[in-house]
Amino acid sequence: MYWPKLTSGKIKKRVIDALNKNVNYRNTPILGVPATYLDSEVFYDDAPFLENAPFLSTLIANPNHIGCHTLNGAEKIFIGTQELEKDLIKLCAEQIFGGEEDAQDGYVASGGTEANIEAIWIYRNYFINQYAANVNEIGVIYSEDSHYSLSKAVNILNINSIVINTDKNNRELLLSDMENKVDAALAGGIKYFIVNMNLSTTMFGSVDDIDKVTALLNKKKINYKLHIDAAFGGFIYPFTNPSNSYSFKNSNITSFTIDAHKMLQTPYGTGMFLIRKGYMQYVKTSEAQYVPGTDHTLCGSRSGANAVAVWMVLHNHGSEGWKTKMQSLVDRTTDVCCQLDDLGIHYFRNPYINIIAIHAADIPTSVAEKYFLVVDSHEHEPKWWKIVIMPHITRGVIDAFINDLKSEIKPKI
Ligand SMILES: *Cc1c(COP(=O)(O)O)cnc(C)c1O
Repeated sequence: MYWPKLTSGKIKKRVIDALNKNVNYRNTPILGVPATYLDSEVFYDDAPFLENAPFLSTLIANPNHIGCHTLNGAEKIFIGTQELEKDLIKLCAEQIFGGEEDAQDGYVASGGTEANIEAIWIYRNYFINQYAANVNEIGVIYSEDSHYSLSKAVNILNINSIVINTDKNNRELLLSDMENKVDAALAGGIKYFIVNMNLSTTMFGSVDDIDKVTALLNKKKINYKLHIDAAFGGFIYPFTNPSNSYSFKNSNITSFTIDAHKMLQTPYGTGMFLIRKGYMQYVKTSEAQYVPGTDHTLCGSRSGANAVAVWMVLHNHGSEGWKTKMQSLVDRTTDVCCQLDDLGIHYFRNPYINIIAIHAADIPTSVAEKYFLVVDSHEHEPKWWKIVIMPHITRGVIDAFINDLKSEIKPKI
């Protein structure tokens, strides 16, 4: 894995060059599109600071990245920034997820929710198209700890869900439950499976054991497509645990969701969808005739500034800088775990992820609420409170939290 760290001058130049390659509404007669620069009274483009602010300049120029630019056909008006998005998809697919050169498609989606729905939409249509499947013959397999966007996807796409239980302590997928439910699904007429594995769940930071799961699926010889929800872990786990099976080198995997607007600290609206070439066609909306290349995404119009933001952050750090930054978050998380161990507090934690899920019985609600820990459910009795060690969490804040815990917890004799 490698990409260079660029100076801020080089980053600025690359973005401004891309903007200059786009057609500019201010000096070119563009008569046909229902779009323009941002309102010039509110977002005036002669503000002096804009000269040194390539992201804000892109926001104001307002390029539309509608469609998928790793496929053929681009809106000529915005070719410069759309090429930059293409570079970004290439970097993530090849450098972070080990894909072969130019063998993946993808786009910057509104978030992990959209990218997950896009994946399941593609595979549903793939099975309908290639196997003349009926929707009730298609089932989506995911764990009970999966993000709720999976439930949205099966609801919208009108296909079956097969929800697998996890071990209540180590949060691992229960393979015996998976095998039983797959057998039951087969007996009930489901022939085609869409499988979602989590490269870190949102609540626990648990990582599904992909090798065991694919061994089981392959042993059963079922017809499946495998999507990875790496919305949370995609920008951290590959850096803190480089030798793992979550990459395009693993032929069982077809696609990934990653969210830049979590670990990468980019603006909301920077989810990403990556998929092997040959699949986007299943969600081609041919009716999108006014879009060059038509549309293969779920969302339609979207701001080119989002792709620019992600590209800038990745190049500001370079692969080595990013690795160091992610490792330091994981190290800080380990520090907290050691202190929880000293206090006899029980928790779940994956050693490569910056999430700690604490047993609710072990932590006073007052302390959990004071530090805005997130609870597993607002409707049931809390079982877990979650800490996510993000970049704003200093050692001082951690010390204060641990001190509050110490004074609240009666020493266990
Ligand atoms: C955050 C998250 C999502 C959804 O992301 P949004 O960007 O909020 O749409 C999906 N899956 C996982 C595992 C997540 O952590």
